[in-house]
Amino acid sequence: MPSSNNKHHLEDYAPIVTSGVIREIEELARLLGPVRIVHVNSTKEGGGVAEILGWFIPIIEELGMKVDWEVITGEKDFFTITKKFHNALHGQPEEFTEEMFAAYLDNVGKNAPKIPEDADFVVIHDPQPAAMIGEYPDRKNRWAWRCHIDLSEADLRVWGFLRPFVERYDGAVFHLPQYTKNLMAPQFIVPPAIDPLAPKNEKLSEEEVSSTLHKLGVANDKRIILQVARFDRLKGPFGAIEAFRLVRRWYDCCLILAGGSATDDPESQAVLAEVQDMAGDDPDIHILNLPPDSHREINALQRAATVVVQNSRREGFGLTVTEAMWKAKPVVGTDIGGIRHQIIHGVSGFLTHSVEGLAYRIRQLFGNPGMAKRFGQQAREYVRNNLLVPHHIRRWLLVFHSLRQSGNGDLITLPPHEITE
Ligand code: UDP
Repeated sequence: MPSSNNKHHLEDYAPIVTSGVIREIEELARLLGPVRIVHVNSTKEGGGVAEILGWFIPIIEELGMKVDWEVITGEKDFFTITKKFHNALHGQPEEFTEEMFAAYLDNVGKNAPKIPEDADFVVIHDPQPAAMIGEYPDRKNRWAWRCHIDLSEADLRVWGFLRPFVERYDGAVFHLPQYTKNLMAPQFIVPPAIDPLAPKNEKLSEEEVSSTLHKLGVANDKRIILQVARFDRLKGPFGAIEAFRLVRRWYDCCLILAGGSATDDPESQAVLAEVQDMAGDDPDIHILNLPPDSHREINALQRAATVVVQNSRREGFGLTVTEAMWKAKPVVGTDIGGIRHQIIHGVSGFLTHSVEGLAYRIRQLFGNPGMAKRFGQQAREYVRNNLLVPHHIRRWLLVFHSLRQSGNGDLITLPPHEITE
C-alpha cells in the first residue's frame, strides 16, 4: 500500500519548500491543461516506484489532470525473468536463454494493460512493462520510459534487447545524469523524492517512537544502527551484519534490518532466510520482516536510529537514504549510484567502499555526537531543497511540456520566468 493514504494538498507543502516552487507548479499545470496520464508499473506495493506513485498521483489529479495507474500482471516465471533483467541491468551477472526473452515478450503482449486512446501521456516504469510500446505501433500519444535503475554498468545482452523498445519512446527519464545512455530518444533527469507529510515521514512524538520500538521487540536502551531495505542481496544485508559485529567490539549497540518484500520480487523469502541464518540467535540483531503498510513503523525506526546505514551493492536511487536524511540522521552509505548523489561525504554523512570502512564510519559517528548532529541537520536541508514532493512534481511537469513540444502537437508557451532548480 503506498504511504499516501492521507491525501495532502499542494498548498500544504508551501511552508516546507523554498517559496516560489508551488507557484511554478501551478503555472506549469495550467499551461499543460487537463491532460490524461497513464502510469504502468509492476507492483502497487513495495519498493520505491510504488512509494512515489502513491503521492504523485493525487497531487497531479489535484492540479486538474486525470491519472490512471495500471499494473502489468504475470505468473511467477515472468517476474523471475524480469528480476533477472533488473539484476543484469544493475550490472549483476545473470544467465539468459532465448526462451526467457520470448516468454517475457509473450507475457507483455498478453497482459499489457489496455492504454486508453485518449491518454495524452503514458509513463512506463522500468523493464517489466518496457516492451509494451511494441503493442501500440499507431499510438498518437506521447510515451516516456521511466527508468529507476542505475544503467551505467548494464549487461549488454539485456540492454541490447530492451534498447530498441526504449528508442521507440518519445523520451526516457532517468534519476541521475550518469544513468543516461547513448539513445535515439530524448533523455530527461528527474531524481525521485519523498513526501514529508506522509505517514512514512511526518513528525512523530517521542512516545510513539518508543511505543513502536517496544511493539517491534526492540529495547530502546542502546545505540541503534538501522538499515531499511527489501530483503535483496543488492541491498547488502550481510555486509551490514559484518560491520555491526565490528562496531560492537567498541560500542554497545544493536542492529535493526527492517524490510519486507515487493510482490514483483520472488527472491526475497530466500534472502530473508539467509539473513536470519547469519544473524543466528544474537539478541542485538533484529530482523524485522514488516508488512508493506508499515510506514509509521519505518518512520519510528528511522527516528530512533543513532546512525542509518545503506550498504547497497547497487542502488537506483535509495529513497531510504532520503527518508533518513529528512529525519536529520547521519547516513553511512556505499559510494555508489543514487547514494553517492545524496550524501555529501564528510558534510552530511559518509560514503564507504568496504565493510571495514562502514564499521569505521559508524564508530566515528558514535564517538562524535556533535558531528552526527551536524551531519543530520545538513542532510535535512539538502532534502528540503532538492528531494521533496514539489521538486519532483515540477520536474515531471517540465518533462510533459517537453514531450508535448517534441511532436506535432499544440505548441505551448513556458512561463516567462526562469525555472530554477
Ligand atoms: N520500504 C518499505 N518497507 C520495507 C522496505 C522498504 O516501506 O520493508 C520503503 C522504503 O521506506 C522506501 C522504499 O520502500 O520508501 C524503498 O525505496 P528505495 O529507493 O530505497 O529502494 P527500492 O526498494 O526501490 O530498491
